[in-house]
Amino acid sequence: MSNHLFDAIAAAIPDRGKTLIELGDGTQISYGRLFDLVERLASHLIRAGVVPGDRVAVQVEKSWENLALYLACVRAGAVYLPLNTAYPLAELEYFIGDAQPSFVVCRPESEAGVRGLCARLGRATVESLGTRGDGTLLAAAADAPIRPVVDRDAEDLAAILYTSGTTGRSKGAMLTHENLLSNAQVLVDYWRFTGEDVLLHALPIFHTHGLFVASNVILLAGGSMIFLPKFDADEVVRLLPKATSMMAVPTFYVRLLEHPGFTRALTKHIRLFTSGSAPLLAETHRAFSERTGHAILERYGMTETNMNTSNPYDGDRIPGTVGFPLPGVELRVADVESGRVLPQGEVGVLEVRGPNVFKGYWRMPEKTQAEFRPDGFFITGDVGRIDERGYVHIVGRAKDLVITGGYNVYPKEVETEIDAIAGVVESAVIGLPHPDFGEGVTAVVVREKGANLGEEDVISALADRLAKFKQPKRVFFVDELPRNTMGKVQKNVLRDTYAGTYERGAA
Ligand code: AMP
Repeated sequence: MSNHLFDAIAAAIPDRGKTLIELGDGTQISYGRLFDLVERLASHLIRAGVVPGDRVAVQVEKSWENLALYLACVRAGAVYLPLNTAYPLAELEYFIGDAQPSFVVCRPESEAGVRGLCARLGRATVESLGTRGDGTLLAAAADAPIRPVVDRDAEDLAAILYTSGTTGRSKGAMLTHENLLSNAQVLVDYWRFTGEDVLLHALPIFHTHGLFVASNVILLAGGSMIFLPKFDADEVVRLLPKATSMMAVPTFYVRLLEHPGFTRALTKHIRLFTSGSAPLLAETHRAFSERTGHAILERYGMTETNMNTSNPYDGDRIPGTVGFPLPGVELRVADVESGRVLPQGEVGVLEVRGPNVFKGYWRMPEKTQAEFRPDGFFITGDVGRIDERGYVHIVGRAKDLVITGGYNVYPKEVETEIDAIAGVVESAVIGLPHPDFGEGVTAVVVREKGANLGEEDVISALADRLAKFKQPKRVFFVDELPRNTMGKVQKNVLRDTYAGTYERGAA
């Protein structure tokens, strides 16, 4: 009788009186208080008819009760399905129709719409949960008779997370108890998390980074977190002195560096800053080291695989790299088309295998089959290489590769050269339909304030730096690059915006 993930998390509770979560206003939630709610919510789910394997879809704002709901699903043997709060009702229809949850939790303000939708789809009990203990869920659960922890094996599903889906429909990545547990255990060890740790948590918890990497690691280490509803540089600056560690997406670090109050003294008690979910510019890494004396530890992972690689805790954290495969994770580089495994140093698609890798896409057996090699390696779609010291470098997504006149251009190589030009803050290189070349290399550039830099300056600065076919044919300037909540540049948005650039007759 056991529940693979929940038992491990419950066994790691250090002391029920210890603070697990501190909120921005200083409110402290002890382990005991949180796990009492977990028990109550899990029992309520069971009373409402949720049986093992049922999906529980949750689209709510971040709160400690939301974290309890995740753990309650695991305890009840359900499959937790968090949804980005940015999805409007119209998009929710796809997720609810696809995942067929038997229980849905939404924000109080969207309750009427979600109830209507679920009634129409013939699905699910609907409850709501707000950020101040409001909504129907907590009240409904209050009198649920406590039920025992539900048995679940290592291979049973604990969660389904939909991928951000910049091309085509979002896919539901099925994550097992062992996927989540094994990865969190490895990270606790690799990054040396202990009960002494206080993690500054400003990430959303509908995504793998804030939910699994951050929360599961702290729970298994028996540590504490300062839980902020979202990233706010002033709040982070105010609260950092109370923390020992912070996990972030690169934009958080960029914003902190822009904050006048972000000083070396403020980070004195921090032992670890990690970055992931999007590439951290080498320049940000260096600027951060100069300001604080801390080398940000960059790691690489994805919804489907949890974390794959990490820079070392001891040893060189090299800017622009994502470090080594984590213990238990095998990583190789293969030819994008043929799948032939490439020798060290060559650029190709990264493939991974290990206990961290998901079970497949929900109700998409063909898609799942297409993304795994016969020997069990998952084709990540990220393009990169392994250097002579074993560090993994990512050069971009395979689908962002630009093919121009039959030549492959890796955007990162061009972006790195553009970013080095005086007056450039950052850039994104994309391929756009081109009548002669198939795709035309195109750069979208953010200039420093007041920089006197034009299209011709960028093109001529690259003339001796890059082969002709890699040089952008057009350069556009923008105030900022479009990014999603995790800080990823949305190249699909840029491709749409500039789609007609090379059409015959275009100016
Ligand atoms: P998600 O599933 O939303 O976590 O997105 C995963 C994708 O984010 C990966 O496939 C990579 O393309 C990208 N990613 C995550 N971490 C890094 C990193 N450290 N450097 C570059 N890209 C990253």
